[in-house]
Amino acid sequence: MKKVLITSKSFGQSGDDAIRILNGAGLELLYYNDSFDEKVFAEKLSDCDGLIIGSHELSENAVKSAAKLKVVSKHGTGLDNIDLEMMDRYGIKVKNVPSVNANAVADLTFGLILDTARKISLAASNTVSGKWKYEIGVDVYKKAISLIGFGKIGQNVAKRARGFSMKVFAYDPYLKKLPDEFDGFVEITTFISALEKADFLSIHIPLNVSTKNLISINEMKKMKPSAIIINTSRGGIVNEADLVYALSSGIIAGAGLDVLEEEPATSENPLLGFDGVTIIPHMGMYTIETINQVSIIAAQNIVDYI
Ligand code: NAD
Repeated sequence: MKKVLITSKSFGQSGDDAIRILNGAGLELLYYNDSFDEKVFAEKLSDCDGLIIGSHELSENAVKSAAKLKVVSKHGTGLDNIDLEMMDRYGIKVKNVPSVNANAVADLTFGLILDTARKISLAASNTVSGKWKYEIGVDVYKKAISLIGFGKIGQNVAKRARGFSMKVFAYDPYLKKLPDEFDGFVEITTFISALEKADFLSIHIPLNVSTKNLISINEMKKMKPSAIIINTSRGGIVNEADLVYALSSGIIAGAGLDVLEEEPATSENPLLGFDGVTIIPHMGMYTIETINQVSIIAAQNIVDYI
C-alpha cells in the first residue's frame, strides 16, 4: 500500500473531505505533526510515496533518503520552504494550492489594519488585566494604503480597502496590466512612491532572494512617521532589526505582523515590547472554510501524482 506522510498541522482539521479523498485512493496515511525533529522526519519520510507539508524546511538529507517519494504537496501557497531546483534534480513533483486562501488572508490583513489603527488587541488585553482604559487610534476611512505585490491577496485587500474609501496604491513590477475591475480605484505606482504615500503599507509578495529584506531601514525612512506596516506574506521581507529601530526612534508608528523571521516568536523578540505592534502566529489562511478547501486540493494533488 502506498504511503503519504502528513506534517501539516492544520491539514484536514476542519472537515473529513480531504482524508476521504486520500483514503478513497487506497493510500495509507502517516502523521508527524506534534513536534519536529529532522531525524525522525527523515526516517518517517524514507518509506513514503507522498508528503503533505506545511511550513517546515524540507532538507536534502530527508529527500535523499526518500527513494519512493514522488510528490510533495504544499498545504498552502508559499513554496519558500522548499528548494524547487533540488526537487527537480530528484525528479519529485511539487504542487501547491494557489489562490484559494486569498480571501482569508485578505480578511486577516484587514483585521490587522483595523487592529493596529484602533489598538483593539492592546485595549482588549488591558481590559482582561483589569485596566479599563481606552486607546486613541487613527482613522482607516479615507487613508492611503500601498500594496506591495498585486497578486491574488493584494487584489483582495484592495477590494476591502475600497469599502473603507481608502486611496489604494499598488506596486508590482511583474503586473503587465491593471485588471479592469480595479480601474478607477487602484493606482499603479513606483516602489518609492508606494512607500511615501502609505498610511498603511501592506506586503503581499513571495519571499525569495530578491525580496528578502526588501523593507529595511532605508525604505522605512521614506515612509510617513505615522505609517503602519502590515505583513501577512512572509517573515524576512521586512527586516526586523530595522523595524525595531524604526519603531523606537519614531521613523514609523506601528506594525501588524502575521509572519516573523523566526517562528514561533520567542519572548526575547523585541517586537513584542511595542504597544503599536500586533503580532499573531502565522494564521492567515486559518478559517474553517479555507482550511477545508486547501486540504481538499492538497489531497487531490497527491492522488493525481501517485
Ligand atoms: P500571488 O503569486 O498571486 O501574488 C504575488 C504578487 O507579488 C505577484 O503579482 C508578483 O508579481 C508580485 N511580486 C513578486 N515580487 C515582487 C516584488 N519584488 N515587488 C512587488 N511585487 C512583487 O501570491 P498571493 O496568493 O497574493 O500570495 C502572496 C504571498 O502571501 C505568498 O507568496 C505567500 O508567501 C503569502 N501567504 C501568506 C499566508 C499566511 O498565512 N500569512 C497565506 C498565503 C500566502
